[in-house]
Order: sequence, then C-alpha cells, then structure tokens
Amino acid sequence: GFTCGIVGLPNVGKSTIFNALTKAGAASANYPFCTIDPNVGVVSVPDPRLNTIAAMINPQRIVPTTMEFVDIAGLVKGASQGEGLGNQFLSHIRAVDAIAHVVRCFEDENITHVSGGIDPARDMEIINTELILSDMQSLERRMERLTKMLKGPQAKEVTRELALVKRLHEHLNEGKMGFEFEVADDEQPMLAGFQLMTTKPLLYVCNVSEDDILDPDKNPFVQMVRKRAAQENAGVVILSGKIEAEISELGEEEAREFLQDIGLSESGLNALIREGYQLLGLITYFTAGEKEVRAWTVPRNTKAPQAAAVIHTDIERGFIRAEVTSFADAVTCGNVKKAAEQGKMRLEGKDYEVLDGDIIYFRFNV
Ligand code: GDP
Repeated sequence: GFTCGIVGLPNVGKSTIFNALTKAGAASANYPFCTIDPNVGVVSVPDPRLNTIAAMINPQRIVPTTMEFVDIAGLVKGASQGEGLGNQFLSHIRAVDAIAHVVRCFEDENITHVSGGIDPARDMEIINTELILSDMQSLERRMERLTKMLKGPQAKEVTRELALVKRLHEHLNEGKMGFEFEVADDEQPMLAGFQLMTTKPLLYVCNVSEDDILDPDKNPFVQMVRKRAAQENAGVVILSGKIEAEISELGEEEAREFLQDIGLSESGLNALIREGYQLLGLITYFTAGEKEVRAWTVPRNTKAPQAAAVIHTDIERGFIRAEVTSFADAVTCGNVKKAAEQGKMRLEGKDYEVLDGDIIYFRFNV
C-alpha cells in the first residue's frame, strides 16, 4: 500500500488530525478500517465512482481502495542533532511514500506553541531544515563509503555516483529541498536509491480555526503557507482539526448534514486523502463482479499485467488480456455489459497502460 507520514512541530494538531482520519474510517460501514499499530491507520480513499458502479451491479461487497497514514511524532528543532526523540523519527519518515506537514494556523491562548507565537513560515523552515540536515548526514555517510570504493572494480559507476552525491549535498546545503533538485533521466534511479526524505512528495496541511474554514485565504498564516508551497511546488490542504474531530464522531449521514450546515462541500480529511493520492501520482481502476465491486490503486502509467499484480501475482504471471471499459462509457451505456454490446469494451494486451477510471476484467491462464 501507499503511505503518507504526518509530521509537524508539537502542538500543531497532528494527533487530532490523525485520530479524526482513523475514526472517520472506522465510522462508515462501507469503508473498512484497521489499526496496524497506534500510529498507523489505514483509511479508505473516498471515490463516488465506486458506488455508481456498484449501483449497476448490486454486488455482495463494495471495497474501496486504501491509503495508510502514519503519525510521526518527535520532529522538533535540533532533532537531526539528537534533540527530543532525536533520530528515531527518521526511519519512520524514510519508510513513507509522501509527507503531510501539518502547520499551525490557528490561534488559541490555551495551547502553547513550542516556538512562541504562531508563525507558519518559521515552522515550515524548522521542519524542512531538520529534514535537510538529516539528508545531508546520510549523503555524507554515502560519500565516505563511495570514496573508499573509488579504486575498486566499479570505479566508473562510483565516480558518477559520487559526483551526484556531491552536487546534491551542495544543493541541500543552500537550504533547498531534495525535490527541487534537477537530475538527468539516467540519474533518477541513483537518486531514488539514496532514500532521502526531502525528495519525497510534500503536502502542507494548514490547521486553521473553525472560524476561518469557510474563507481560509483571509487568514494571513494560510497565505504564508501558500506562498512558500508555491515556491516549492508542494501541495496545500486546509482543514480545521477541531471540525474534523467533531465530524469523526458522527455517522455518515449526520456528517453530511453537519458539513452542509456549516457550508462545506466535503470534509478536510477527504480533501487530504484525495490530495495525498494526487501527490503520489496514483490512479484508481475498478473490478466489477457480482460478488464484489472493488477499487484498486496503481501508479500512473502502470501496464495492465503489473496493475493486475495488485490483485494477485498469478494474474500477472498468466496474463492473457484485459477487457477494459471506461467508467464514462459504463455510465453512458448503463453498465459494463451494455457497453460491451455497444462496442465500447476494448481488448488490451500486456503493453496497455491502465487509465484512471478503467473498469477491467482480466483474462489469465492459471
Ligand atoms: P500534536 O502535538 O501536533 O499531535 O497536536 P495535538 O493534536 O495533540 O493538538 C495539540 C492541542 O491543540 C490539543 O489540545 C488539541 O485539542 C488542540 N487543537 C488541535 N487542532 C486544533 C484546532 O483546529 N483548533 C484549536 N483551537 N485547537 C486545536
């Protein structure tokens, strides 16, 4: 599965948001949820198309696709130098696919801010600096290792990698994030192998007060976050931890009414899940049988056999062809069967790249 780590300074609302996420998942019957460990929650990716397809078939089961969120505490100023929980958080962050950085944009006299007053620009700087410093340390260790290998049998590759490591180290040393670093296509695999934190897709989550949620851009703190995020090409999601916590206590129907009453079209957590999914470059395809209508997640540009492998590796191994109907055609024709009768079902081979919204039936040899 794909994992999004929630980071941020203490008292910005990380746990509140994480708990709301996991509780919201637990509350709605159709959305299976489980807790792997207190800090890891599996949440369903909300997708109205799933219910539309289900309504065509009336299956026994409807199964949404999921994403994992991890509450990563312990990131404080100086963490890369061993402050607070020190480097413990690093291994957690290294393991996630994307980072959601919660930034406090709400004022509340009763809740102290670790660095004094509210200042998102400073908070973003503190966290990013810790991530950058940690990445620099790991590059320095790599440099040492590579330098020792310079006279070895793979001198040519080692020299190339060392040059990249040094260039990247200089880039980070200027206070820039790894994802702002430009590499040639053939350097991309090397960079991925470094497993840095600042090369991961980053999303800023503004935690605003409930009074600001309808018109968040009036809040100067939100403007600050947007400005910095735009420079970095990072995503921004705005939510109110307090409101999300309230919503998470409600059932699906009640939650919808509550949102309507305050004038919101969807919960902030839905937006967070959706954006996280976007950020990771993920798409959804569907399988639709009488037993089960189900959504599956794959990275964009995944070929049909590899997309089938998320269901079962046997399908990838014995892959014959994919029978593909687009969601739009299924809706226009009424269902998948009628779409096939009207010539809208395509037979695709092993080089077909699965598209978002494809409804697929895989043929394979057992
Ligand atoms: P963490 O340390 O980042 O995990 O922060 P918590 O989620 O524990 O929140 C710290 C405090 O801020 C708690 O007392 C929360 O109830 C409070 N808090 C979280 N989100 C909001 C919010 O949107 N508005 C207000 N006023 N308080 C919040």
